[in-house]
Amino acid sequence: MDIEKKVVETINRYKLLKKTDKVVVALSGGKDSVSVLYILKKLGYDVSGLMIDLKLGRWSEIHNENMLKFCEELGVPLTIVDLKEEFGQGICFIKAVLKKQKNLTGCTVCGIIKRWILNKWAKKLGSDKLVTGHNLDDEAQNVLMNFLKGNICLGARSSPATGVSGDRQPVAGNGFCQRVKPLFFVAENDIRAYAKSKKFDILYDKCPCAFGTYRVETREWMSHISDKEKLAIVENFQKLIPGLRKGNVFEIKKCRECGEPSRSELCNFCKIMGSL
Ligand code: AMP
Ligand code: ZN
Repeated sequence: MDIEKKVVETINRYKLLKKTDKVVVALSGGKDSVSVLYILKKLGYDVSGLMIDLKLGRWSEIHNENMLKFCEELGVPLTIVDLKEEFGQGICFIKAVLKKQKNLTGCTVCGIIKRWILNKWAKKLGSDKLVTGHNLDDEAQNVLMNFLKGNICLGARSSPATGVSGDRQPVAGNGFCQRVKPLFFVAENDIRAYAKSKKFDILYDKCPCAFGTYRVETREWMSHISDKEKLAIVENFQKLIPGLRKGNVFEIKKCRECGEPSRSELCNFCKIMGSL
């Protein structure tokens, strides 16, 4: 697959980005976000990188070193947010406490914390769009995980762009920096092949903290499904979304603790971090 062509098609079809946008790419240091940053820069977008240093020992140190080098060579500014400076703790401690206190598993906690930090910092950096490296496999996993949990409505806002018309999720101005996913229709296998062909100096290992979670189990059994089937899952689910969105309206408030946007009085981040 020509993933550069697919990215251009997705950007145009869903009006993800404008050439005048200040675009911040959430960089984990993995193949997906590195490839999307590289492609957007090549396409002439005004891009910069935003990375959260999760303080996962040597794994984080290598990612940091790689991204500093990668961004410098590409001529792209990079901001690294240090989790310990932000909260006084690394992700492992936070996860261990929350697992014990609330039985929240790793990937849920990490997702909530990352989304909160990335939104706050994207706004701080004055960005118009926040790009993530989420790919077709991530989206297919979401569809099936929500279905198996009996909560398919959770996916009602699944789209290459948050805040697209009819989605009712507010965009900039309501405290959200619009998040966009140019790799939404690109399979992980194709991104890995692309990153290898470009000889990006990166780690291909999975996050050392992601074990024993529902997402990891789903990823494992979904590895037996072909990319064509993953695409069918995601595309067919997209057709169901207009129906799911009916009656799935919510109002955006300001979290009473942190002032960030939230569906309830207290945002998910403050709900979980309040107990630390
Ligand atoms: P993951 O949740 O690890 O599958 O990552 C999904 C996307 O979230 C990545 O492609 C990145 O765009 C973003 N992301 C994940 N981890 C980080 C991080 N430590 N710093 C910045 N962005 C991240
Ligand atoms: Zn909050």
